[in-house]
Amino acid sequence: MKQRIVFATTNEGKMDEIRQIMSDSGFEIISMKEAGICIDADENGDSFEENARIKAVCAAGLLPEDIVMADDSGLEIDYLNKEPGIYSARYLGEDTSYDIKNRALLERLTGVEKERRTARFVSAIAAAVPNEGVFVVRGAVEGYIGWEPAGTNGFGYDPIFYVDEYGCSTAELTMEQKNAFSHRGNALRAMKELLAKKGIFKATYAR
Ligand code: IMP
Repeated sequence: MKQRIVFATTNEGKMDEIRQIMSDSGFEIISMKEAGICIDADENGDSFEENARIKAVCAAGLLPEDIVMADDSGLEIDYLNKEPGIYSARYLGEDTSYDIKNRALLERLTGVEKERRTARFVSAIAAAVPNEGVFVVRGAVEGYIGWEPAGTNGFGYDPIFYVDEYGCSTAELTMEQKNAFSHRGNALRAMKELLAKKGIFKATYAR
């Protein structure tokens, strides 16, 4: 039977990106749901890395034969001491619309010049590997917070996150354009490289 990588997410958009990037790993890539499990991990870590690790270890407890990966991501705004950071989803309350969250962040940056509006999307990916341990990597995309929300693509903080390369917000980019430099994509590629370097793909094939 083909070895599996189970990704601890219920988000189909993330699964598409993961399948695309890990497609040449030789593994079957499946979601938690496809693996028949559901977790509700307490994400009480102090960093993206810790939270990704908590989720991966929690799911791995139910799937001891598989490589189990999980991610944690968010937006860091330098001027706001890296807020909303690990609280990106919970900022101003989980059920508050992103229209309100985005406008609140813009308000907090009133009068701040471009040089001090630097920000980044961060993604940490953790992989729990049977008999090997847990590995964690980070990917990021640098940008800045604009002055107005713009664009309707993407989700979350995309309308206020601008990238110099395109001169627009990431909500104004097509999915293909955004995926080409996504923080999660960077982290996934780093994880693939790390697992290959450690010979874990090979070791797992031999199991
Ligand atoms: P999650 O941990 O990947 O579910 O992401 C946590 C939160 O970070 C999301 O709810 C969004 O608020 C924010 N976030 C993460 N990645 C992105 C992105 O690519 N665009 C916009 N917001 C993002």
